[in-house]
Amino acid sequence: MGTCCVAGCGEITVNEAEEFFVLPDGRKVTKGEWISLDGSTGNVYGEKIPTVEASVSGNFATLMKWADEYRVLKVRTNADTPKDAKQAYEFGAQGIGLCRTEHMFFAPDRIMAIREMIVSKTPEQRAKALEKILPMQQGDFEGLYREMKGYPVTIRLLDPPLHEFLPHEDEEIEALAKEMGMKFDELKAVVENLHEFNPMMGHRGCRLDVTFPEIGAMQTRAIIQAAITVNKEGMHVVPEIMVPLVGEVKELKYVKDIIVKTADEVIKAAGVDLKYSVGTMIEIPRAALTADEIAVEAEFFSFGTNDLTQMTFGFSRDDAGKFLGDYYSKKIYESDPFAKLDQVGVGKLVEMSVKLGRGTRPDLHLGICGEHGGNPPSVEFCHRVGLDYVSCSPFRVPIARLAAAQAAIKFPR
Ligand code: PEP
Ligand code: MG
Repeated sequence: MGTCCVAGCGEITVNEAEEFFVLPDGRKVTKGEWISLDGSTGNVYGEKIPTVEASVSGNFATLMKWADEYRVLKVRTNADTPKDAKQAYEFGAQGIGLCRTEHMFFAPDRIMAIREMIVSKTPEQRAKALEKILPMQQGDFEGLYREMKGYPVTIRLLDPPLHEFLPHEDEEIEALAKEMGMKFDELKAVVENLHEFNPMMGHRGCRLDVTFPEIGAMQTRAIIQAAITVNKEGMHVVPEIMVPLVGEVKELKYVKDIIVKTADEVIKAAGVDLKYSVGTMIEIPRAALTADEIAVEAEFFSFGTNDLTQMTFGFSRDDAGKFLGDYYSKKIYESDPFAKLDQVGVGKLVEMSVKLGRGTRPDLHLGICGEHGGNPPSVEFCHRVGLDYVSCSPFRVPIARLAAAQAAIKFPR
């Protein structure tokens, strides 16, 4: 996110209530004191060290230029805000491989509208909430398109487990009930009813659009209207609309039909000529196993290797950190499969999907947008199996460019 972080400092003791932490040697650091972090080395300094914004310049720029002359893979970025998109463009990103639309809604002035949409009991209530969200989404997409200056932008329909957005505290439920003209108890019951025992495998991804097609329709409208607006300013945006968490071609077809119907209506009403494409993430093993069928409907695949790793190993991406340490010390796993792609297992699914998908649709466009897209050994794997691009967070774009060039030299294609 552009903010430096050193994680896993198990040796410090944090006293959250009194706002200080204590280092292993007994030194105490209180709120308001300066420390500086080096996110690359993990060093923490007990003082304010002057910093400069990272940029691609001087020898670094020359090296990047050489890398670009060799690499075959394109490098895109995962960006959800115009600010991230701009940063990534400056680091050499050639498009957005993943815009997680849900991230646009955590801002305090927006969360209310999305909560309203989630807890709506009637289509009318939902339509009212969606109407509030539409202009916000459209504005965000226009910002992304403008920052990408004509490079491709892949926008993913709403994906998250809904509990991530739900109000939990009574105070929050009270405020939402007031906004929606509902009784507190009534809304609390709705919230409780939405509880899921395993939300990561629950009502998320394209399943949301199967239940509430109006969400996908609203998002499509925003994506297409935003493209029409910026194209009138002289750009040539071809939006790529991505359906998440598909495991069955019929569910993709169901959601795609909503997208195509809405998009074509908006384009016709505007009287313009706009191209767009519809594709899917491959992040459920069943999608990988049936990639030949999925490719009948999808114009592109983007490998969501975060979920694909989670579901192939069968361990939660939120909790695996709690026990993976034992696997490293006992030499069962060498490294975190969420950071470095497991080429033996998960990679086999990726490679298989590439072959099956291209068997159905030889011009199928292929990329990766899981965290592995910025991890050099995983980038090399993506090159070897014939993907067209990798997509990673903005600050990893330069390392992905370099890794892609090294892969191309090692494995000419
Ligand atoms: C993925 O699963 O790899 C992915 C990119 O989607 P998310 O991390 O948002 O689930
Ligand atoms: Mg995912």
